[in-house]
Amino acid sequence: FLDVLQGLTTLKLFGRSRDQIAIIRRISERFRDTTMSVLRVAFLSALALEMLATLSTAIIAVEIGLRLLYGRLDFDEAFFILILAPEFYLPLRLLGTRFHAGMSGAAAAERIFAVLASPPESPSPLRREGDLRPPHLTPSRLLHAMERGPGGEAITFHDVHYAYNDGNRPALRGVTFAIPPRERIALVGPSGSGKSTAMQLLLCFLEPTAGRITVGDHDLYDIPADEWRARIAWVPQLPYLFAASVAENIRLACPDAPLDAVIRAAQQAHADTFIRALPDGYNTPIGEQGARLSGGQAQRIALARAFLKDAPLLLLDEATANLDPDTEALIQDAIRILLHDRTAVIIAHRLRTVQDADQIVVLDQGRVVDTGTHTELLARSGPYRRLVTAKEKY
Ligand code: ADP
Repeated sequence: FLDVLQGLTTLKLFGRSRDQIAIIRRISERFRDTTMSVLRVAFLSALALEMLATLSTAIIAVEIGLRLLYGRLDFDEAFFILILAPEFYLPLRLLGTRFHAGMSGAAAAERIFAVLASPPESPSPLRREGDLRPPHLTPSRLLHAMERGPGGEAITFHDVHYAYNDGNRPALRGVTFAIPPRERIALVGPSGSGKSTAMQLLLCFLEPTAGRITVGDHDLYDIPADEWRARIAWVPQLPYLFAASVAENIRLACPDAPLDAVIRAAQQAHADTFIRALPDGYNTPIGEQGARLSGGQAQRIALARAFLKDAPLLLLDEATANLDPDTEALIQDAIRILLHDRTAVIIAHRLRTVQDADQIVVLDQGRVVDTGTHTELLARSGPYRRLVTAKEKY
């Protein structure tokens, strides 16, 4: 539902918002059904518990009345007990609420444990049949091949398909493009066009349902995922900051990095000044999700992580949030330095970034609808031009 609503502006721009009405109606109807059945149970259980508590209080009241009548109890005592009686039954009334909270907790825990218990890597269906990797290509040789020469090897998507929900929800439908070494590739397209899915594939969090991704002549999935990810710096849109010190948060990718390397990375990311202004400098603990840092500061911490990691391949999901012009300029400058001499794939939301890219890949509904440089694509007055002219943030 959120996905549809968030993408509404883009859908409107592409004249496709009408298609979404049926989807929104179906989702809302399902939501109404679920809510009503939850409310039914909640009201019924609350009613039963309330009845029990009220009847019990009434029995006490009658008993007190009888004792007062026969003079076996003072009025003061009787009045005091009568006031206390509802309090005595309060936990019973709260039982319903607590029970529901407990049920949500149990349901959440079940899903968390299912994730924790899932195997970390699912071998590719191709490789399950038997290892197709040529015997001479050990992982370290593959990685060596990847980094050979001044420019390394190109990463290529060959007719890549990917579908979520066991193949029922296609996200990429035959995507082909190349990421030549030391070039900056910008992925652009409306929400839901498959940009994040392409990133997840590059990060080896997903495997294509059909097609191949190659590094030089080799299949990406022949390289052990951990070794591949060690060569990638990933800067997401909303970086996750852990409840640890600023320095530990920057050190995430290189836990053994000395403090001066951390400081250097922070300086390159234009984060050093604000970190030093924190109460305890680099040792200041950050609350969960960086509660004490602004969005712009959290992004600079994520950039500092990338500088510290110094990986040959950079994957960047540019933030869409509006930042103040100074912070924006600092972040753009840090990104510019970070991109220097590196292969980079960027989910681009800013005009500057796409203008600077060596190649722009325009995605729509899981397909590559155009590729080229900013000038070439603008001249073609295709989907890219529509995106650029219509989207406010461009
Ligand atoms: P973009 O990054 O361009 O917004 P995505 O790659 O996130 O696009 O999404 C492509 C399509 O895949 C969309 O239709 C989206 O709803 C769907 N999708 C993305 N992630 C998931 C998921 N985890 N489960 C099911 N469908 C998903």
